[in-house]
Amino acid sequence: MNLTALTLTQLRDALRAGDTTSVAATEAAIDRITRVDNEIRSFLTLADEIALEQAAAADRRRAQGDDSPLLGVPVAIKDIICNEGIETTAGSRILEGFVPPYDAFVVKRLKQAGAVILGQTNLDEFAMGSSTENSAFFPTRNPWDLQRVPGGSSGGSAAAVAARLAYGALGTDTGGSVRQPAALCGVVGIRPTYGRVSRRGVIAYASSLDQVGVFGRTVADAAAMLQVIAGHDPLDSTSLAAPVPDYEAALTGKVVGLRLGVPREYFGDGIDGEVAAAVEDALARLVELGATVHEISLPHAPYALPAYYLIAPAEASANLARYDGVRFGPRLMGDDVTATLKKTRALFGEEVKRRIMMGTYALSAGYYEAYYGRALKVRTLIQQDFQRAFEHVDVIAAPTSPTTAFRLGERTADPLTMYLSDVLTVPVNLSAACALSIPCGFDSQGLPIGLQLIANTLQEGLILNVAHAYEQTTDWHERAPDLPDTGGGDDSTETE
Ligand code: GLN
Repeated sequence: MNLTALTLTQLRDALRAGDTTSVAATEAAIDRITRVDNEIRSFLTLADEIALEQAAAADRRRAQGDDSPLLGVPVAIKDIICNEGIETTAGSRILEGFVPPYDAFVVKRLKQAGAVILGQTNLDEFAMGSSTENSAFFPTRNPWDLQRVPGGSSGGSAAAVAARLAYGALGTDTGGSVRQPAALCGVVGIRPTYGRVSRRGVIAYASSLDQVGVFGRTVADAAAMLQVIAGHDPLDSTSLAAPVPDYEAALTGKVVGLRLGVPREYFGDGIDGEVAAAVEDALARLVELGATVHEISLPHAPYALPAYYLIAPAEASANLARYDGVRFGPRLMGDDVTATLKKTRALFGEEVKRRIMMGTYALSAGYYEAYYGRALKVRTLIQQDFQRAFEHVDVIAAPTSPTTAFRLGERTADPLTMYLSDVLTVPVNLSAACALSIPCGFDSQGLPIGLQLIANTLQEGLILNVAHAYEQTTDWHERAPDLPDTGGGDDSTETE
């Protein structure tokens, strides 16, 4: 059996049937990581020994009759999510060597569900970026073309799932960081409703926007992961107490009568023609399945990007004040406290410093109303746009990213061109909606394209079902990037 070729749900079934073991699956994943990830570099920290211990424990649990939902399944975690005992850096020098004393809520949930945690994946520093090039350590490469970026900020998690190095992965989506890398790497990525998943133990970027999401190779895989991490956490005051539906049971594949809204603002300038065409094709497939398409307007969408780039940096400037060299990570000593602070905080990378400066300015006396206050008003207008749209349609469909994966270095010189990568994802973060990205084709260069599906608050099951129905009509999720097939041990590509 080529174990790394299996999807998460296929592996789960094989484990349940006794056709394989968690130790075998974990060894296969680690073996593939050691062969393939030296080029892609999706992992910052590989916790192989601990993972193998967890796998052995999972196999023992199974032998005793345990059938927890992810028992024995190897997954990966974005390195902004605290993993007890494992270095967690947020991709920043300022947290180098930081070993969290506790697990994030989502990590605890994964462990309780029996998942094996392979390690921590690469990201843009503090999740600020759209290409994973802002990682303080190294960039991650796109498995479909190693000269291109995997997207960001959760680029390591998306690349790991696309390259079959992990069966599923966690990311965070503050402005698109799950959906955009999912689109660029050809995998499924869901950003749940704000509050659906606890943020406890997730290193904060912009607290009113941050939300943990999941990556899977298929919609069912993503649903299985979300099932485990969703739910109320009394220790996160923004966590929603709403019950968690059965997301896999929601995957009926039936979309007859579904009203799909297509916002005209999402198909304007700057949207690549091949991306738009693939999204149009996907809509046609959904119509064949019984959905109807309606043109809608989200009139304030054009203001989402500037509003986001005021609100997110403003919150970041407050959240990042805690990195003072006293409580976490390295301390670079100066002659006095101020000098120590200055030296230590110089460990932040360029983009993080830029955001702290922008955010501090937007919040400062005299400018607060003009910038931050105005951005909050825009946020309300955007929320109202979505609410109005959802009076007429069930799901909004659009591209996830204006373009497919861009080349490494192509957008690093000009921060504004990088920010534009998020123009189609940030409106959701400013609203109370949820959204996912699902592969909907490839461009002429063989790069994946993502379809974004957006629904109202807590309608994750709905968008997962629409995505699943669409997925059944395509084979995009069965295509694999051209990488050495090292799964299952019968490796014929090794030449050394
Ligand atoms: N690219 C956006 C930013 O840089 C979104 C990042 C995210 O969702 N974490 O802020």
